[in-house]
Amino acid sequence: MADVTIDWDRCIHSGMCTTIAGNVFGMGPDARLVVLHPTVTGADLDSVHDAAACCPVDAIAIAVDVVAADG
Ligand code: SF4
Repeated sequence: MADVTIDWDRCIHSGMCTTIAGNVFGMGPDARLVVLHPTVTGADLDSVHDAAACCPVDAIAIAVDVVAADG
């Protein structure tokens, strides 16, 4: 499981991530990026990694939730 965040100061709303990870990212009626699911897992997480790699301004951050072995 991981949390997805966008650096809104960098995002240029190209929409590229919506074509790669359409379950997670979408475009709003104002043609601006919308994060549909800020917490992802499984295949959606894989797609977000692909989208982050393709984002032209490196605006997608992925924070993987690590569960401590003793916690
Ligand atoms: S690919 Fe990057 S710049 Fe384009 S909409 Fe997604 S986060 Fe924004």
